[in-house]
Amino acid sequence: MRLGRHAVATDPGRKRRQNEDAFVVRPPLFAIADGMGGARAGEIASALAAGALDESGTRSGGEERVIELVQEANRRVHERASNDPATSGMGTTMTVALVEPNGDITFGHVGDSRAYVLRGDALEQLTDDHSLVAELVRRGELSASDAEVHPQRSVITRALGTDPDVDVDTFTVHPEPGDIYLLCSDGLSDMVAGDAIEEVLLRNRGDLDGTAKALVRAANRGGGDDNITAVLFEIVADDAPAPPEPDAETREYQTTAPDEEDTLHPEDGVPAISEIPSAVDTMVVSASAVGAALADQEPEAPQAGIGRRLLALTVIVALIALIVVLVWWGLAR
Ligand code: MN
Repeated sequence: MRLGRHAVATDPGRKRRQNEDAFVVRPPLFAIADGMGGARAGEIASALAAGALDESGTRSGGEERVIELVQEANRRVHERASNDPATSGMGTTMTVALVEPNGDITFGHVGDSRAYVLRGDALEQLTDDHSLVAELVRRGELSASDAEVHPQRSVITRALGTDPDVDVDTFTVHPEPGDIYLLCSDGLSDMVAGDAIEEVLLRNRGDLDGTAKALVRAANRGGGDDNITAVLFEIVADDAPAPPEPDAETREYQTTAPDEEDTLHPEDGVPAISEIPSAVDTMVVSASAVGAALADQEPEAPQAGIGRRLLALTVIVALIALIVVLVWWGLAR
């Protein structure tokens, strides 16, 4: 198996002037970074992270190599944020895919950008979001459908640049011929439901460039609240015909001309996630803040909350009683 065609589309969306998403399309290395921070700091963070990857090259080496790449990107963003007050607190997500010489694909992931695979006729999400709402869903305290419209869904719990080291999720996928991989920012996944992304991929199967553009259109149609980026690549059988040479400089690739943004093709008539309140700016929170936010959720599950508190109180009372008895016993002797 080997890498087939690839494509990328990026667009600021309908509500933002700046595009703070960045991407790396340097086969066999692909990545996406969604920056956050005041003024233009988000743009700097994602560009620094993508630039670090671009420079580090495409040498293979499995999950260790991918961790190395993401850690280096993290160091660069963190260093700049520490030395340049204008960018203090900036950060970025990063989702990386490296196609190894044996065809396996190694992924590295931090934040709420996503990797998906279309295998056969089914789309599967490969990454777990490092976000407050995803955390609540994993704990069974929030339904997946409520998470899609949660006002705090842009709050991420892990990002590049906020600490000297970053905890990177890694995993390896053994591909099948015909697999199509998608890396995207939340500007796509927040605006277009998974089954609608699947529909777009299936409908445009023969045309990756067309797929990337259709995904951006679908996100704009769903509201375009945030910057939208989609990176696509396919895995084909070794004996598949060679792909045509990609057009010029992929990095400079601009998708939707402003006047094209609203031009929806009839075949793009896919259901988008509706009634999404306008997204809050992406921000990262510390583990303790997550704890506080999680505590705020407790009224939804009062039984569990009171139960835990009662248990904690009982343990404390028992410990105090034990100490009193021991002290009394010690004095009595
Ligand atoms: Mn975003």
